[in-house]
Amino acid sequence: MAVIGFIGLGNMGGPMAANLLKAGHQVNGFDLSPEALDLARQAGIEARDDLNATVTNVDVVITMLPAGKHVKAVYCGENGLIATVGKNTLLIDCSTIDVETAREVAAQAEQAGLSMLDAPVSGGVGGAEAGTLTFMVGGSDAAFEQAQPYLAQMGKNIIHAGGAGNGQAAKICNNMILGVSMIAVSEAFVLAEKLGLDKQKLYDISSTASGQCWALTSYCPVPGPLPASPANRDYQAGFTVAMMLKDLRLAQQAANASGATTPLGQEAMNLYTQFDEAGKSQLDFSAIVKHIRKD
Ligand code: NAD
Repeated sequence: MAVIGFIGLGNMGGPMAANLLKAGHQVNGFDLSPEALDLARQAGIEARDDLNATVTNVDVVITMLPAGKHVKAVYCGENGLIATVGKNTLLIDCSTIDVETAREVAAQAEQAGLSMLDAPVSGGVGGAEAGTLTFMVGGSDAAFEQAQPYLAQMGKNIIHAGGAGNGQAAKICNNMILGVSMIAVSEAFVLAEKLGLDKQKLYDISSTASGQCWALTSYCPVPGPLPASPANRDYQAGFTVAMMLKDLRLAQQAANASGATTPLGQEAMNLYTQFDEAGKSQLDFSAIVKHIRKD
């Protein structure tokens, strides 16, 4: 059994912390939101009133926060995690944040003699509850080995993507593929409608031909061909437009900073921005087909 400090007990962090508790660890939790703390208490987590009390004398600290600025605020500075935790504490940030901040915070941790991993996830709230998340991990081999048992109690696939920041890099590259391919599949269905090609026929053909991809066969954006996809329940999320837009923005930020040319990633971000600004941020991201169809 280990003692774990868990910071950020929201939609994802709450159930992830609960799975660590179920695996037999002592879990101390902290969140700025009293509601999140109450829910954590009900799940049996030792909810603490401040950050320092949560991370003193723990073996591992896991954070699950909204964005890079929150991660920086929690880890850095005089009262931050890096200055507070014991020398043998392993730090794991599971938030989805920009690569630059992930590398900057990991470098500060290293300077202080601490091991830190970036370990963003895919799998959503369902995966967090079921303990079936995929972890994309950046950091040293030794830290990865040390973290694996804990990550395995929250997830199913745990992949070491390389050095610091590479977990975040993997996450945004993957989600850029997803955003672009969801738009491509949506455009194909809209064109098929105009051409009088039945959507089920297009699905049957493309799902077994070279147009096959996850956006088509696991998350089809039109109702009918795939009964489990969000299109069949009025695009109730799932993975929201706001979340896809966040990841596409992170991908463009990284592309600009690194000099990579990603014109389709840029256009995907533009289309999701327009859809988000039309008040659709909480719909499932596959609803982009409605924007393309001009519904
Ligand atoms: P959320 O908003 O539900 O939870 C974030 C929590 O962090 C909130 O409870 C908030 O109060 C807390 N918080 C913010 N600043 C804090 C601070 N300084 N100290 C302590 N607590 C603080 O968000 P979420 O859906 O749980 O997502 C968390 C991260 O996981 C994000 O980076 C998101 O991009 C990523 N993610 C989410 C999903 C999903 O489906 N929700 C899927 C994959 C990845």
